[in-house]
Amino acid sequence: MNVRPNLYIISSVAGGGKSTIIAALLKEFPDFYFSVSCTTREPRPGDVEGQSYYFLSTKEFQKRIAAGQFYEWAEVHGNYYGTPKDPILAAIRDHRVALLDLDVQGAKSVKALRPESVTIFIEPPSREIWIERLIRRGTDSQTSIERRIENGIRELDEAPNFDYVVVNDRLEDAIRDVKSILFGTKKQN
Ligand code: 5GP
Repeated sequence: MNVRPNLYIISSVAGGGKSTIIAALLKEFPDFYFSVSCTTREPRPGDVEGQSYYFLSTKEFQKRIAAGQFYEWAEVHGNYYGTPKDPILAAIRDHRVALLDLDVQGAKSVKALRPESVTIFIEPPSREIWIERLIRRGTDSQTSIERRIENGIRELDEAPNFDYVVVNDRLEDAIRDVKSILFGTKKQN
């Protein structure tokens, strides 16, 4: 029997470095399954349809909610985001190591559905450094940055509810810490 958890949920605040960490893991471990979400947000420069997200209209997203096609979904920063149900169920059934990049609401929903899943919160080293990184990222408009900061302050309060908290001070250290969680060598909080 496969007793190792195979569902890992990674959450953070916007600009917390989560996407960079996930990209590094997928590059090193191409067998990992990454759940590509659907979203109604506009694509950013560099986003690739079907790799970063499936970009949907609000109408199409709502149709899929009604049809029960999401494993979980949430409204984040004014847009819909959801995990397509069939592919994640197939990955779980095939005992693949699955990574999900979800906001804190999504992390809670999946943890409730699958208590054996492992939740990891990527935390910036300080509030000041986080805001500076978010602004420096340059991918969001002023209004969108303000909204992400406002939401992020609330999300940071949720960190203690995660199985693990990884502080992303130096990126290489954060990647190493997440790997040690995935390979079962890091102690729980
Ligand atoms: P971004 O627009 O910056 O790519 O993502 C915004 C937030 O939505 C991030 O916190 C990201 O983790 C979250 N997110 C992405 N996909 C999903 C999803 O399928 N479900 C939920 N609940 N959150 C998601």
